[in-house]
Amino acid sequence: MDSMLSQGVGSESGERSSNVQVSTSDAHKVDGKNPSEVIHWHNRGVAARALHLSRGVEKPSGRVTYIVVLEGLCRFNIEELNTRGPYCTAKISPLEMTKSEMEQVEQDPDFVTLSRQFKAIAMELISILEQKQKTGGRIKVLLETLPFHKLADIFVASFEISFEEQLCMLDSVDPKVRLSKATELVDRHLQSIRVAEKITQKVEGQLSKSQKEYLLRQQMRAIKEELGDNDDDEDDLASLERKMQNAGMPSNIWKHAQRELRRLKKMQPQQPGYNSSRVYLDLLADLPWQKASEEQELDLKAAKDHLDCDHYGLVKIKQRIIEYLAVRKLKPDARGPVLCFVGPPGVGKTSLASSIAAALGRKFIRISLGGVKDEADIRGHRRTYIGSMPGRLIDGLKRVGVCNPVMLLDEIDKTGSDVRGDPASALLEVIFVATANRMQPIPPPLLDRMEVIELPGYTAEEKLRIAMQHLIPRVLDQHGLSSAFLQIPEDMVKLVIQRYTREAGVRNLERNLAALARAAAVRVAEQEQVVSVSKDVHKITSPLLDNRLAEGAEMEMEIIPMGVNNHEISNAFRIASPLVVDEAMLEKILGPPRFDDQEAADRVATPGVSVGLVWTAFGGEVQFVEATSVVGNGELHLTGQLGDVIKESAQIALTWVRARVADLKLAAAEETDLLQGKDIHIHFPAGAVPKDGPSAGVTLVTALVSLFSQKNVRADTAMTGEMT
Ligand code: ADP
Repeated sequence: MDSMLSQGVGSESGERSSNVQVSTSDAHKVDGKNPSEVIHWHNRGVAARALHLSRGVEKPSGRVTYIVVLEGLCRFNIEELNTRGPYCTAKISPLEMTKSEMEQVEQDPDFVTLSRQFKAIAMELISILEQKQKTGGRIKVLLETLPFHKLADIFVASFEISFEEQLCMLDSVDPKVRLSKATELVDRHLQSIRVAEKITQKVEGQLSKSQKEYLLRQQMRAIKEELGDNDDDEDDLASLERKMQNAGMPSNIWKHAQRELRRLKKMQPQQPGYNSSRVYLDLLADLPWQKASEEQELDLKAAKDHLDCDHYGLVKIKQRIIEYLAVRKLKPDARGPVLCFVGPPGVGKTSLASSIAAALGRKFIRISLGGVKDEADIRGHRRTYIGSMPGRLIDGLKRVGVCNPVMLLDEIDKTGSDVRGDPASALLEVIFVATANRMQPIPPPLLDRMEVIELPGYTAEEKLRIAMQHLIPRVLDQHGLSSAFLQIPEDMVKLVIQRYTREAGVRNLERNLAALARAAAVRVAEQEQVVSVSKDVHKITSPLLDNRLAEGAEMEMEIIPMGVNNHEISNAFRIASPLVVDEAMLEKILGPPRFDDQEAADRVATPGVSVGLVWTAFGGEVQFVEATSVVGNGELHLTGQLGDVIKESAQIALTWVRARVADLKLAAAEETDLLQGKDIHIHFPAGAVPKDGPSAGVTLVTALVSLFSQKNVRADTAMTGEMT
């Protein structure tokens, strides 16, 4: 129908619009599916001549459409309608005006005004259309040649107006009515074109703004290129893309990354999300998807030697590690549990993990989880977060640069309680080793996925062996020394262990040994026989040395990078005889003893004092209990920030002792109550430290028995346990 209408515009006839409508609706109604339906006929119509009939395309449903081109002749009135067979016939009277009638109308001043109005508005419409489609030429000719009342029909026929409006035009037999209606319709059409135009103009304005930006950017790029400054956005994205291509991502990640990159390319750099997307892709490209440290064929014997060489003792633990490695060797894709070393600080948890890495020829990375409260800190934030960051695991992977490192999750017990999930499922290649000081804070589901290996701490004897075999050689090496410069005899190491450290591990021992090594390094550097020093090793003056020595005991160990290798130093200094550490030197460098082995003996010299042991996360401590009796009326006083459990222990201990006065021969026969005229005061020293726990009973009883019997307890024995 559309094609008919547009053809109609060019035809000689003016009244085809209504013509078409009527005939279409007729046809429709005649072959309508429902002949019994009452057909409502309009009482006006248009007589038309069929000019052309063509077969249209066949629809997939098999229906064929036909296109009929009609030429309208004139309006008519229906006088009488007959239905015969499948179609209708009617008696009609034409509504065409005669020439003289027409001439008369043309004289009418109203008609003249109307046609002038119509012509003006029609012209306006045409010129707008002309600008847009360049098709106005023919219509302009029509405007000049056709009579106005016919023009009105033509114009209106080319708009989209409702069927009712079309009928209304058909009904406007009077040329004046027809003109004024047409003027109205044309005007309306004009308005809607104008509104549409306004909107497009606005859009075009915006477009041209972005075009302008584009142009400016192009210019900027040219300028930058000229300046040799090439890091602008597009180059940036191109290099990002290249980097992504070289990253060796697995196909699913690659697809995802590609999608993200396409999105990024469509964005303006100022757009929100551009940067986070960019950073994200950068991270993806940075991750070691394929880069792996080449895993050596696992040689269990060599691995065992390696562990033995790095660590003294720990036989069972090393055995367990070897077992773990053996399983991995036999079934590399087995998702074995994560090893978790639990023990006090300085017992070698970290260094065992790094030995595992060395034994496997893999890189080692330590990720500290201490203090992590937010799960997202480990897992990573949502990318849409402002300031979002990759999680610590991913960050660690990026830093280490290979996809199969040994990853140490340090202090897993220090995270908030919310660390859920199994990191191993996300990162299969990685070997995880975790450390913790205590097991109790680790959430059970996490603990369940780990193989816990406990490292309880070392005895003094073990510490001595570790120091002699491992710590001293390492410390000397780190300070550019050797046994030719400094010797620390076993006796002195024992003294360091007894007087300067009280710990389960060997960390402070190592620090103290390092302090000795530093002092020795200074002394060596100060020697007269200095031959030329190749690099920046400065001669240190005596006052400085003395300052350092005075501070020595309090100083934390730090490894001072010498910037020169050991041989250079060895060659640079020649020393007559090695420096041998003695007691005086210990005191000078490490300060007065921090822990007195006489302390226990001094304390228990008074009856009523006993020696207990308490458990702490750092391994444990010696805890004295002091009981005193004073004049009073049988009350028990407890001090030292005690918890309820300890308070009860003290009550029980007192009752236990009172109940056994005779057995223990604590009082003369006539005295039945130990507390007659007395108060008992029990104090736990280190009053500022809160104390609680279930194993002080035996120590309390011992203190009370010692008090009542006035016998001293042994200084070389400490105890822990409960009384019932
Ligand atoms: P942790 O991680 O348990 O706190 P580290 O692994 O950092 O302790 O150990 C502290 C220091 O003690 C390291 O230099 C380590 O090599 C040394 N060390 C601990 N145990 C041993 C051991 N059994 N043999 C040799 N050195 C040890």
